[in-house]
Amino acid sequence: MSVPVPLVFNAPRRGMPPTHLADLDEEGRREAVKELGLPAFRADQLARQYYARLEADAEKMTDLPAAVREKVGSALFPTLLTPVKHVACDDGTTRKTLWKANDGTLLESVLMRYPDRATLCISSQAGCGMACPFCATGQAGLTRNLSTAEIVDQVRAAAAAMRDGEVAGGEGRLSNVVFMGMGEPLANYKRVVAAVRRITSPAPEGLGLSQRSVTVSTVGLAPAIRKLADEGLSVTLAVSLHTPDDELRDTLVPVNNRWTVAEVLDAAKYYADQTGRRVSIEYALIRDINDQGWRADLLGKKLHKALGSRVHVNLIPLNPTPGSKWDASPKDVEREFVRRVIAQGVSCTVRDTRGQEIAAACGQLAAEN
Ligand code: SAH
Repeated sequence: MSVPVPLVFNAPRRGMPPTHLADLDEEGRREAVKELGLPAFRADQLARQYYARLEADAEKMTDLPAAVREKVGSALFPTLLTPVKHVACDDGTTRKTLWKANDGTLLESVLMRYPDRATLCISSQAGCGMACPFCATGQAGLTRNLSTAEIVDQVRAAAAAMRDGEVAGGEGRLSNVVFMGMGEPLANYKRVVAAVRRITSPAPEGLGLSQRSVTVSTVGLAPAIRKLADEGLSVTLAVSLHTPDDELRDTLVPVNNRWTVAEVLDAAKYYADQTGRRVSIEYALIRDINDQGWRADLLGKKLHKALGSRVHVNLIPLNPTPGSKWDASPKDVEREFVRRVIAQGVSCTVRDTRGQEIAAACGQLAAEN
């Protein structure tokens, strides 16, 4: 099988959206307010509106004098994301939203409600440049990076939807965020890290989710994993390994041609050492491709050697994507795979996949209208 090596740092095809309050840190907010000729206390007031009240429309910020709402709105609250449609399944507890950005770019996020938590799967890029052949997003290529505010606003909107009881199950709270939607978060590094800070800082600096309930998932850009480890954040790192051997991984995750399994696991170990966090390994189980018993043994051995007990394997039964011949493994093969990984001393579970019938499951986001 021949798969083109992706251009990891390929040029986005479109420019970035206008600046928004959520792009700015505390100092940036103060400067922006000053530039608008407003008193300094407005900076905190605007942050409280956005991060605590989850309000993104300046016209509705009634603690602002009516005369300045328009000026504030056009300078700091441009409409970044407009919902094109919501599609739901699982009795309304899984909801996918198709968003249109300011320049027409399409992207998706998926909200999944469970009895004890609500998780939002967000996009960090429109499209993706990593070209993994089993992933629908990877097939379309990269349109552009999302801005910090475009990433944060997906979360704000979902937090508001939960608070307002728009998701089946009544009023609730958004508790978890996973960077497992469209895009490779570590290829949009600076904006993603800034977004993580806004998502996890307490209001009015941010949306106040706990760092531990945020997961950043990567194809394995080893230098960026090390850099993330040094940010002083305790977010969960998930690495999309998909096979323990370089020969197959070169084709399943083409960026493996640049950073091998050993280099990725070394970086993951560094992450665990620096943060004290257990690392998640994602493994999409594909029938007759990466589901052999010997691969389960090798996976368990390599992970145990690199990370000891500080690792957990999430098996993801392959979700079908348009035009792909590949399929999930049969259940007995899956069970045997789990058994063998565990036998090497590594914890391993099968991820419950939600949203297949609305093309909202892992690897199915294509942002088609
Ligand atoms: N680029 C990041 C974020 C995407 S996360 C990353 O690769 O980690 C989405 C997860 O779903 C990744 O582990 C990805 O490899 C996996 N995935 C992609 N396509 C899939 C499919 N068709 N079925 C199951 N999992 C898939």
